Amino acid sequence: MLSVLGPLESGWLVQGPKVEEFEEKWSEFTGAENSIALTSCTSALHLSLAALGFGSGDEAIVPAFTWISTANVVEHLDGKVVFCDINLETFNLDFDQIESKITERTKAILPVHLFGLSADMNPIVELARKYDLWIVEDAACGFGARYKGEHVGTFGDTGCFSFHPRKAITTGEGGMVTTNDGELAEKIRRLRDHGAAMTDLQRHLGARPYLLADHPEAGYNQRMTDLQAALGSAQMDRAQDIFLERRNLAQRYDRAFASLDWLRTPYVHSDFDHGYQSYPCMFMPEEVTDGSMEEINSKRNAWMDDLQKSGISTRPSTHAVHTLNYYKSKYELEPGDFPNANFADQCSISLPLFHGMKGEEQDYVIEKVLAYQS
Ligand SMILES: *Cc1c(COP(=O)(O)O)cnc(C)c1O
Repeated sequence: MLSVLGPLESGWLVQGPKVEEFEEKWSEFTGAENSIALTSCTSALHLSLAALGFGSGDEAIVPAFTWISTANVVEHLDGKVVFCDINLETFNLDFDQIESKITERTKAILPVHLFGLSADMNPIVELARKYDLWIVEDAACGFGARYKGEHVGTFGDTGCFSFHPRKAITTGEGGMVTTNDGELAEKIRRLRDHGAAMTDLQRHLGARPYLLADHPEAGYNQRMTDLQAALGSAQMDRAQDIFLERRNLAQRYDRAFASLDWLRTPYVHSDFDHGYQSYPCMFMPEEVTDGSMEEINSKRNAWMDDLQKSGISTRPSTHAVHTLNYYKSKYELEPGDFPNANFADQCSISLPLFHGMKGEEQDYVIEKVLAYQS
């Protein structure tokens, strides 16, 4: 709480010293060369694509199971969304299907590190090089997520993180771009601040603070406030503890549910350090197929109702974007066009996981899950 008093007392409320401090801590934690704080992950994805030069008629490959904004930013830039199905075990892009989606107009791949599990980045990076495509990583849930030891957000042209309250580090609303490309970082910094050649902080610290900056481009206003950055910066002092606590909770669930054949717990593999933004499971009292999906879905929903009555909040892990009305009608898509994304939408369930969760709270969830009778 005290951290937000600093900006209030100093009077510097918007994108000043606290934003710089938060960005430095973010770069240190992720190993990225540059971090740029913004108003949300959605604006991070948007400004990344805008800064790279993605524009009208360009195509971007987006997983069909993700939060809707991964696709929306492509629409905002007048591009075309090309959905790709996911792997049901990881909930991430099915690598084997990506190449067949590439056309002459493809400019970018937007791999998502869903729920804190990295996408399989080496082959994706290789494919992008082969076809000269940009990679903008949707690392909204990616805090603490590593692939072969490297933090997500450092593989593509940019990585985009979210500080929405559903994520491990939160500033209310907020986002961050990471990039190892210094010029691209400068461009994104200008775009977030009305295209100004100089930030307000630089101007105020300079020799003639009373003169306004030039604006070489028509930018946006996507600046984070120093109040939000103070919150984020304080959490970064505990970043490793937050990551470890979430992982311990997840491993406790893993052990408790290891023998359940009707609940598939999150993917575990030594190349992928899961950040556990959430604990996404597949509810599968039988194999999920076209024929069984509807019944499994209604059983899952009934189970979610029961858990809710016991005071346990669960959610479908996220949504299949191609089934949402805007995309369904604009691109004339059917749920079965991306069957795994649809199965995940209908049969996934995320169990409660948050740092600060007490042992007895988790025991209660475990007890109720184990008591389920299908
Ligand atoms: C949360 C989330 C977003 C959006 O983040 P905001 O900061 O709310 O804009 C985008 N993509 C994924 C995968 C997310 O989970």
